[in-house]
This record gives sequence, structure tokens and C-alpha cells, in this order.
Amino acid sequence: MNSSTTQKINIQKVSTSRIGDVDFDNLNFGSTFSDHMFECDYKDGEWQNPTIKPYGPLTISPAAKVFHYGQAVFEGMKAFKDEEGKVWLFRPEENFNRINKSSIRMAIPEFPKDIFFEALTTLVKMDKEWVKPGLGNSLYIRPFVMATQAGVSASPSTEYKFMILMSPAQAYYTGDVKVVIAEHYSRSANGGVGAAKAAGNYGAQFFPTNLAREKGFQQVIWTDASDHKYLEEAGTMNVFFRVNDTLLTAPISDRILDGVTRKSVIALAKRDNIKVEERPVLVSEIVEAAKNGSLKEIFGAGTAAVISPVSAFSYKETVYELEKQEHGFATQFKKELMDIQYNRSEDPFNWRY
Ligand code: PMP
Repeated sequence: MNSSTTQKINIQKVSTSRIGDVDFDNLNFGSTFSDHMFECDYKDGEWQNPTIKPYGPLTISPAAKVFHYGQAVFEGMKAFKDEEGKVWLFRPEENFNRINKSSIRMAIPEFPKDIFFEALTTLVKMDKEWVKPGLGNSLYIRPFVMATQAGVSASPSTEYKFMILMSPAQAYYTGDVKVVIAEHYSRSANGGVGAAKAAGNYGAQFFPTNLAREKGFQQVIWTDASDHKYLEEAGTMNVFFRVNDTLLTAPISDRILDGVTRKSVIALAKRDNIKVEERPVLVSEIVEAAKNGSLKEIFGAGTAAVISPVSAFSYKETVYELEKQEHGFATQFKKELMDIQYNRSEDPFNWRY
């Protein structure tokens, strides 16, 4: 861990905001960026020169290690505006802790907490007009770290760049999500990097996910790499199964991302007296529950869509449909989470920041 610094952030403001050019009613998730970005370099053994500057391209050596060895990690979090115009983050400490946990796994130096929070709050304050009011609107925040040292030798970089980008987002309607349960490909393995938000974890999912898309499914639910017997998580979401009135979800392991939405859903469920079991969930028990009618809901939980109900799953070429639940657990948790995020309810767990 680097010693805490008291470095001041160097701020370069845009001369004219681009906000007037943005159609906030027709945003494509993650493709429009706010006026400013944060950048901080790691060199000579320390993080230095923290800077907020106009969003724009970088100049990086084509030999930078990130391009050759994928030494990169990232985070995803959101800012929300309440009806009085106040801007809130949701459990940002979790994202801070997780990016450093990911960094450790990828042999990247940890980022100092004081600079992270100073950069995050300054950036959000500077670009607060980019956080639109209204339930569902948010500013998606993408901190990331990449290896910038030039050199095509396969060893950890000695130089890195930590950055934060921000992208306005509308309610993320996933529509009808149909999933395929993985029988061949794997996302992660014991001792691997599944628990890290390592860039390559995502690139590696594109091909099998495309195969699922070609068959009319949107996502893959990954299973354990050893024998594909246990259900783990989806592309960018943890997954919950409701069998009768019990909620099942895979336990956190080194194969699964420790999702902030997941742990928030578990806390809400416990508060609401819903039985939650964090334990290995067999594919066979979910197939059996679908057959005998005790499987009531499947839903994904993640920052982008908050809660995303699954309408059908495919396993061994058989498709199992789930009845739509207007008043199910998915609807309940989505409302409870969003009410906290948008300051429309009490905050009993102290999650708003
Ligand atoms: N699993 C994976 C693989 C993810 O990328 C994400 C998104 N960060 C999640 C689960 C959900 O995590 P969170 O609730 O913190 O967004």
C-alpha cells in the first residue's frame, strides 16, 4: 500500500461545456462522457500528479503492457440526483475496496483512499449538471487502472495510470432477459481471477455470449469450471433464484465477483424477513424446481440494471419459461434499492454518500 499523500488535485476546466450537445432522452449506455475526467500516474514507486482535466484522448505507447498482457482492472458505480437536486453515491467504499482487491490480484499497486475520494467527489461536483434528476437517470462512474509502461516483456508494469470517467445513463431496461446455462465454456476457475474486475474477464465472455445471442438468448449464467454443476453468476450480474419463498444465491468465492448490489439485496431480504441461503446452487435443483413449479423467479443483480428479471433459461437444449411476477421479489428489491439510492426513503444501512 502506498503511503497516504496529501497531494492536491491539479484542476484544468473545460472552456465550454459539451452538455448542450447531448440528447439526454436518447442515451446509449456508456457511450457519452461528461466534461471532465480524472487521471493519476504511478511512477518511481508512487502515485503522482493527480489531475482533473477535459475528457479526451490519451497518448500511450503501443508497447504499453496493458495492450499485450491485459494488466487492467476497473469498477462501475453510479451517482443519483434526488428531487432537491442533491447528488448521492451508493456505497462507494465498496467500489474503492474492490478496485484495490482487483489490483492486488493483477499485481497492480493499490490506489490511495484519500486521492480516490477527493477525485471522485471533486469530479462529481464539477460535472453535477450531467446527473439528471428523475428515477432511473444516473451518472455511471468508471474508475479503472491500466499498465502503461512500454515494453513487451511479460512482467508486471512499473508504471500505471488510474483514471475515472463518467457517463450519463438512463434507466437501463434489459427487456425480457433469457439466459443460457453454461455447459462448456467457463468464466473463471478456482485460483483464477473471477473475483477481480479484471478487464480480460469480460473480453473472454464475449464469444460464448455471442453464441447464446445467436440462439436468441441475451446472457449466459456461468457454472463452475470443474463440472458445470453449480450456478455462479451472469456477465455483469450476480444471480438469485427464488424457490418457493426462499432466495438462493452462490456464495462469494475466488470465482465470483463480490457484487455491491448482491450484498445489498441480501441485507434487504434479511431485513424483510425473507429467507436467504448463500450456498452452492445446483443446476439440477433449479431445473427440478422449474419442472415442479417451485421456481418462482430468477433475477440478476448489478449496478447497471439494479435488478434484472430473467424470463426463461435454457439447459441442455430445453427451454424453461418463468411466469412473469409483477409483485415478486425482483420488483420489491428494485424499488427498495432505488428508493435508497434516490433519497426517497430512509437509509437504515447508511448506504448513501
Ligand atoms: N458480477 C460481475 C462479473 C460483474 O461484472 C458485476 C458488475 N460489477 C457484478 C457481478 C455486479 O456487481 P455490482 O453489484 O457491484 O455492480
